[in-house]
Amino acid sequence: MTDQEILMQGPGGANVALETLDLMRLHGVPPTSANYEVWLAYRLGRNQPLRDAIDSRIGTGAVFSADENARLHEQFFTGLGASAQIVLAGEKIARDLGQVVSFLKEAESRSGDYGRTLETAATDLNRGLGPEQIRQIVSSLAAATLDMANHNQTLNEQLKKSTTEIDTLRNSLESVRMESLTDSLTGLANRRMFDETLRMRIEEARAQRSELSLLLCDIDHFKRFNDTWGHHTGDQILRFLASALQAHARPDFLVARYGGEEFAVVMPRMSQRVAQQTAEALREAIQAKRLRRRSTNEDLGQVTVSIGIARLQSGDTPAGLIERADACLYSSKRNGRNQTTTDATPVLYVA
Ligand code: GH3
Ligand code: MG
Ligand code: MG
Repeated sequence: MTDQEILMQGPGGANVALETLDLMRLHGVPPTSANYEVWLAYRLGRNQPLRDAIDSRIGTGAVFSADENARLHEQFFTGLGASAQIVLAGEKIARDLGQVVSFLKEAESRSGDYGRTLETAATDLNRGLGPEQIRQIVSSLAAATLDMANHNQTLNEQLKKSTTEIDTLRNSLESVRMESLTDSLTGLANRRMFDETLRMRIEEARAQRSELSLLLCDIDHFKRFNDTWGHHTGDQILRFLASALQAHARPDFLVARYGGEEFAVVMPRMSQRVAQQTAEALREAIQAKRLRRRSTNEDLGQVTVSIGIARLQSGDTPAGLIERADACLYSSKRNGRNQTTTDATPVLYVA
């Protein structure tokens, strides 16, 4: 859950929502879900660039036309959202580091001054001075030492504060990055993560001369399922599928939600024979599961999946490998669903 979701689910959430709608009404913005997303962020005030953009528009008295609303949503909420946040967090880290560096520079010059004070004192003390002069030197030394100690303490505190801030930023940067690579419904890797991993794994397989299999899996007649039981229960099935896939995956596999009700598994160092055995075990586990609707405990019957597996061949691009796995999946569908086809299986089309 994001901070925003936690806040909106809390006791003040409903008021914030009403205030957001009031603001939208005040500025003549229709309450579509995209507009609401923009104005909720404005009301929450955490996205400074978005606040500035809206405030400056309000300042000029310009109207919020449909085009302008779409542009705001596009600018702050589609695709670029996460990377924009990363850029902002990066800028903050850079500012913090700049501050630490200037503290360190100051500390260096102060410790230089302090060193010179000590040197002068040592030379003076060697000159055989009287008790009054020695008393003066000692008291100025004490003052310089105290000053240095105070400054060091401030420096330590500043350093500690900056380190904590940098740690916080590093964590939120990591969670923004994870969020941008994760499918929010199932918690699996999303398409973007899948694309990146597949490309990397293909390069690795080439370098190590190892095998690589790609599995694509699509739920059979899922539309019918949704139509009968509703989208919400459909979502529950998608989550069930995600956990079944993960339960059958080795730690080095990448299980991803490839599209709506399609999943993909990148299987490095995996021969096609073993990949096929894994797929069959998965398919059987899915069909054997008796599904129940969470809210009413009604029997939902069975869900089955069709699977296609392709093995990396020399000269394959990621797109080429995906295309072959997809063709195998299509064969599984054409041949009656609830089965696995590999690109080593002779393809048997039923007309
Ligand atoms: P086939 O066996 O040929 O794959 O039939 P199908 O009905 O599964 O295939 P089709 O592609 O016609 O329908 C896919 C359905 O998946 C349509 C859409 O409603 C559903 N779907 C896609 N994404 C989601 C989602 O996030 N949640 C839910 N509940 N359903 C989804
Ligand atoms: Mg499909
Ligand atoms: Mg389907």
